[in-house]
Amino acid sequence: MPDATFGVVRSLDMNDLVKCGVQAVVMNVFHLMQRPGSSTIKALGGLHSYSNWHYPIITDSGGFQAFSLTRQNPRLGSFTNKGIVFRRADRKIHLTPEKSIRLQLDYGSDVVICLDDCTHPDEPYERQLESVTRTVNWARRCKLEFQQAIRRKKTFAGVGPLLFAVVQGGASGELRKKCADSLLQMGFDGFAYGGYPVSTDGRLLSNILKLTRDLIPRKFPMLALGVGQPENIVECQRMGYELFDSSMPTRDARQGRLYSLLERHRPKVGARNWLSYIYIQDPKHAKTKEPICFNCDCLTCQNFSLAYLHHLFKINDCLYQRLATIHNLAFIKSQLESVM
Ligand SMILES: [Zn+2]
Repeated sequence: MPDATFGVVRSLDMNDLVKCGVQAVVMNVFHLMQRPGSSTIKALGGLHSYSNWHYPIITDSGGFQAFSLTRQNPRLGSFTNKGIVFRRADRKIHLTPEKSIRLQLDYGSDVVICLDDCTHPDEPYERQLESVTRTVNWARRCKLEFQQAIRRKKTFAGVGPLLFAVVQGGASGELRKKCADSLLQMGFDGFAYGGYPVSTDGRLLSNILKLTRDLIPRKFPMLALGVGQPENIVECQRMGYELFDSSMPTRDARQGRLYSLLERHRPKVGARNWLSYIYIQDPKHAKTKEPICFNCDCLTCQNFSLAYLHHLFKINDCLYQRLATIHNLAFIKSQLESVM
């Protein structure tokens, strides 16, 4: 699922997304509550109607944004047992578990995610324990708020939305189990792997991702939050994750990193080194007639050469962004299908 952080997958419209095979998008509570503002979205009938995207929308709770901001600069926000405080230049924004759920439901989300206390796996055990305790407590409060809201809005009866909880615990198998067991006992429609999925040197934390997936029975769908590199998605799919969200494929496309296959004919997806990156700004592409990827049936590969994309990138034309984004999303979709 591409990230439509502000209600848009940058440079694509909804028809483009459907043609890429995208079945759902992730939108972001924290960013949308600032721009255009939750009251505006609610007044315009929710995110589906506002963005004209009539397939599933998953909203993320705001927990990851808080983690990411405070990791960059601790003065930008703080976590307490009550909730999260974001400090902006002109104001403070309070986000509690209850408020996160109310916002997501007001937006018309199809999959609502509990607010969690995200960590990096490198952080010490005491911090991971605090995160698990808080994540479980917040999940309890989220579920209560969710159930009360569903009862109030009878229109939801029997047709969703779903509520997912996030499993934290850093790199500790013991804490992951503690978190997963507590959440399973409470009961949710699905679960997500929480916390950074890659190490500081960029390697997928395969062991802890696998362990976490194995803690949740397969009858529950599971989302690998923040997993976005094609080889990581393929690896996590093999572990049993069904859903992925990351801004990486679309950001890579806009910044000139395009996905292709190392072998032109009959490539074995998932084998060692099956993926290759094409850096479109490289002058060697200026006269290349070939598409980004021979095996790709996306609009970009069927109609445009690397040379033309290189030119569009160099003159900074917005068509480059659209064509590149279409390809990276369609490429991931087709690789996932080829290993199913
Ligand atoms: Zn393509």
